[in-house]
Amino acid sequence: MKEIFKSGYAGIFGLPNAGKSTLLNKILDFELSPVSKKPQMTRNRILGILNGNQYQVVIIDTPGFIDPKYKLQKHMANQIQKTIKDCDVAIYVTEPVEPIDKDVDLSKSLMSPSVLCINKIDKIKDKRKLLPLIDSWRKKRDFEDIILISALQGDNTEKLIQSVVKLLPQGPKYFEEDDITDRNERFYCSEIIRETCFDIYEKEIPYSVSVVIDDFKERDKRKKHYIKASVYVERKSQKGIIIGENGKMIKKLGTVSREKIESFLGKSVFLDLSVKLMKNWKDDSEKISKLGYND
Ligand code: GDP
Ligand code: MG
Repeated sequence: MKEIFKSGYAGIFGLPNAGKSTLLNKILDFELSPVSKKPQMTRNRILGILNGNQYQVVIIDTPGFIDPKYKLQKHMANQIQKTIKDCDVAIYVTEPVEPIDKDVDLSKSLMSPSVLCINKIDKIKDKRKLLPLIDSWRKKRDFEDIILISALQGDNTEKLIQSVVKLLPQGPKYFEEDDITDRNERFYCSEIIRETCFDIYEKEIPYSVSVVIDDFKERDKRKKHYIKASVYVERKSQKGIIIGENGKMIKKLGTVSREKIESFLGKSVFLDLSVKLMKNWKDDSEKISKLGYND
């Protein structure tokens, strides 16, 4: 008897910093979605494709649930709403702490069969301490499955995949076997530069940054990729901070980003960065769409 092939979309949801992007990367075994200690790093839906024996799961990482205060955050909230509607299975990621009321409320907005992942269990030495927490969840929201995971270490991520596959409908292969995402390399290079901003700049700076790739080409002779990128900021004073004294910070941004991009592309890269001002872009629909955030 021929086994049936299952496929579909699985959305990853949760509060900022729950570990959603880390989970996607661990499942794919690839640094696809940018991760940061600081919340609200993810601005776009990031789609990763997992092929297995008799299944294909298209996993969508979303920005964390937030109360939108400006246009960019509205765009982020729209991305979540779209994914809620489109997905066949929902994965709700939460941290192993009480109270859980806010999480419970948000998880109730999910419309598809849902699996709860209590993440970061590597932080909990005595696992018995998790029992009351699991109990609280059981009382407040009915999930198809509750799985204790460590997205960072990969504990129980295989079990999660099995649980998701069980809930998927029968369906076709949506993507080719060797595709891992639906976005192009340009997009990921811009995300890597933005992620590096989260690593090296403080306070509000990384939140004010948007990165656009202006040119991306392979140079025939040296086989080195040439990438020209603009780092947009919201205010004039931020330009100086990005550049730093004697260009020290932009140099660091360039070096760290280039190394990450080289490892992502598996090629040597010449990275040409410039800093530009786009006044108050975060609260201007036209500007955010120019910067590539399209609903
Ligand atoms: P997101 O906002 O939900 O996408 O969260 P991220 O994936 O960006 O992760 C937020 C922070 O939590 C990062 O510093 C991660 O390294 C950390 N993190 C994620 N998963 C785990 C985990 O399983 N264990 C621990 N200890 N930290 C984690
Ligand atoms: Mg994220």
